[in-house]
Amino acid sequence: MTICVTGHSNPDTDSVTSAIAYAALLNAQGQEAKACMQIAVDKLNPESTTVLKRFGLKAPETMMDVAGMKVALVDFSDIGQAPANIASAEVVAIVDHHKIGDITTNQPILFRAEPVGCTGTVLNKMFKDAGVAIPKDIAGGMLAAILSDTVNFKSPTCTPDDKAAVAELKKVAGVEDTESLFMDMLRAKSSIDGISMKDLVFRDYKDFDMNGKKMGIGQLELAAIDQVAAIRADLVKALQEVKNEGRHSVLFMLTDVVKEGTELLVISDEPALIEAAYGGKIENGCMWVPGMMSRKKQTVPPLQKACGC
Ligand code: MG
Ligand code: MG
Ligand code: MG
Repeated sequence: MTICVTGHSNPDTDSVTSAIAYAALLNAQGQEAKACMQIAVDKLNPESTTVLKRFGLKAPETMMDVAGMKVALVDFSDIGQAPANIASAEVVAIVDHHKIGDITTNQPILFRAEPVGCTGTVLNKMFKDAGVAIPKDIAGGMLAAILSDTVNFKSPTCTPDDKAAVAELKKVAGVEDTESLFMDMLRAKSSIDGISMKDLVFRDYKDFDMNGKKMGIGQLELAAIDQVAAIRADLVKALQEVKNEGRHSVLFMLTDVVKEGTELLVISDEPALIEAAYGGKIENGCMWVPGMMSRKKQTVPPLQKACGC
């Protein structure tokens, strides 16, 4: 049975390109595998779409339900981020760089997770370990994923391994200037032209259960916060609607990649809890958190702690 390789729901560039890369590695090792993603091609986020186009990569096949299938997971290991019916699928491998999630298996599997900035970095090592050359187009996708996940090395999640992987992959991909590749991706990512506010909220968004409190955290990375000035009121309205769908809080990170900090838009039943988590004051529904770049490392853990998790 063909192994369906998929990243998390609401796929980002790492989830998309890692599915492509790991399927290619499995193929090179004689296993039938195909890259999949949990979204329709025309709904894929603009950054990933730009990356696929730039390197001439085919978009993974849309796969929302994996009942009865063999699956390999990249960039996540949480049931909440998996395709429908993951419980009736056979998970045969997991390659990740997040905390270990709640997916369990009945058989021993290949499980490779490392505390690095990107799944692409882990996969680069796996290609080397296997003695398989990375095709040029796929190297480009992996390179882009590392720049995206590490915010061009500025995120605290970035490690020396990520920088080493970029140095290797840029040669294979024939990319000389990773700065301009990153800025092209950032422009695509922060483009808000013609997008509905709800789509913008959910473009890079995750829900978390924190001690029974449902917390939604979205992020938009920008070259400057004033890029959203014109749509700010509409964005807040959309966040309020998302909050009203049964969430305790919705936080939206407007991350200034150049200034290296985040303006946190907050809609919450307990604003004091959010203020305690980040040690600041919410004014007009928002607070500036200097240095905050990473949801995983800097936004989620303090909030979990404040919730007593
Ligand atoms: Mg991801
Ligand atoms: Mg990732
Ligand atoms: Mg990300």
